[in-house]
Amino acid sequence: MPPAEAGFADGTAWIDGRIVPVAEATLPLLDWGFLRSDACQETISARAGMLFRLDDHLNRFERSLAKLRMIAPLSRAEIRQAIHRLIAAAGFRDAYVQIIMTRGRPPIGSRDIRLCSNRFQAFCIPYVWIAPPAVQERGLHLHVSRRLRVPPASVDPMVKHYHWLDFEMALMDAHDHGAETAVVSDAEGNITEGPGFNIFVRQGDRLLTPRHGMLDGMTRRSVLELCAELGIAVEETEVTVDALRAADEVFLTSTAGGVMPVTRVDDIAIRNGPGAITARLRQAYWDRRGAGWHGEAVDYSSNPH
Ligand code: PLP
Repeated sequence: MPPAEAGFADGTAWIDGRIVPVAEATLPLLDWGFLRSDACQETISARAGMLFRLDDHLNRFERSLAKLRMIAPLSRAEIRQAIHRLIAAAGFRDAYVQIIMTRGRPPIGSRDIRLCSNRFQAFCIPYVWIAPPAVQERGLHLHVSRRLRVPPASVDPMVKHYHWLDFEMALMDAHDHGAETAVVSDAEGNITEGPGFNIFVRQGDRLLTPRHGMLDGMTRRSVLELCAELGIAVEETEVTVDALRAADEVFLTSTAGGVMPVTRVDDIAIRNGPGAITARLRQAYWDRRGAGWHGEAVDYSSNPH
């Protein structure tokens, strides 16, 4: 594996077809991605030099683009190559890559969305944990936010977007309550998801996970596959706040952290440490990833620098 290019130790970014140090990457001020949150993204991880579910991520990215009526200036093959090149240039084995499409801007003075030229940009930084392994061992403390997630009828949660002010405010509330993160509900009192993760609860011998109002996370999907393999009963259904508070086990799933145990929900101690099913799925997830499950080796020779 080649060493990282000088200046790329913190990460790399793809701006207008060039790879630059991530700290120097900038976006035009008038891009509606910034001015209107008119953007979508995919976050992809690599561990030990293996990208995870890359084709599934690219498929979800293409679905988001279609829903937002955006046209990527790069082909799928070029985007795939850009991802490999960003990681190769940084020289990371464990990487967090975000590919982003923004609306771009219309001609100055126009507000015609149809006249925008959509932009592609991306970055690669060292792998990010929502909760680092030491916190996962103890289990996260979760706050149930009183804020509601932006309704799916307004903004489709299956598009991986940046409408995060509800999450951001919920995070601040969580910190005020001494919790590390928060989950938000819908108007019917069902939990949906949190800032960057899906959620599972165990009730007796059944695992439950919300079935709508959230992103179909890749890690969630992976856990559903593992449950099928390991014979763990799991149901995609409505999960009420009361069910969450009464759960036997709770865990969160994300590209940024895998299967993350929760041991406290507000003032309710769920348990002393990760529950047995959570621990089993967490172990299986990382074992399987280590064995190349849904993996694609990073092409470290793809860095032309
Ligand atoms: N929900 C939201 C809102 C997210 O932003 C994310 C990931 O960033 C997830 C769920 C988890 O999805 P994945 O497992 O694909 O990382």
